[in-house]
Amino acid sequence: MHEFSAACSIVDAAVQAAESHNVKKVNAVNVEVGEFTFLIPEQLEFNFEIASKKTILEGAKLNVKKVRGRIKCQQCAHEGEAQLQDDIPSQVAIFAPMKCPKCQSSATVITGGKDFVITNIEAEVSAP
Ligand SMILES: [Zn+2]
Repeated sequence: MHEFSAACSIVDAAVQAAESHNVKKVNAVNVEVGEFTFLIPEQLEFNFEIASKKTILEGAKLNVKKVRGRIKCQQCAHEGEAQLQDDIPSQVAIFAPMKCPKCQSSATVITGGKDFVITNIEAEVSAP
């Protein structure tokens, strides 16, 4: 149900945006999804289809772009993309300290990739 609640909040936000911009038809909603949300793009698209029924978004396509997680090192202040170790699935890695790629310290914090954002909405606007 993780994907369904995410899809609902995307639909809510997109409907609000569409209503405030005099939109008559939405063609696509583009979202960026952080790697640490563990949302599966296919599942999100499927749930978006269900959640958007009977709204202005019905029939619109959800385009999901995955973005890498980011970490910041508290030892050397390096900040960058999280480097997941290949042998640890990311679902587990988020609970284990990630090593700083610069100084190998484990004193890192996740600074990005834990949420999702609507980047833009492709829509047809009614003539004024
Ligand atoms: Zn470091």
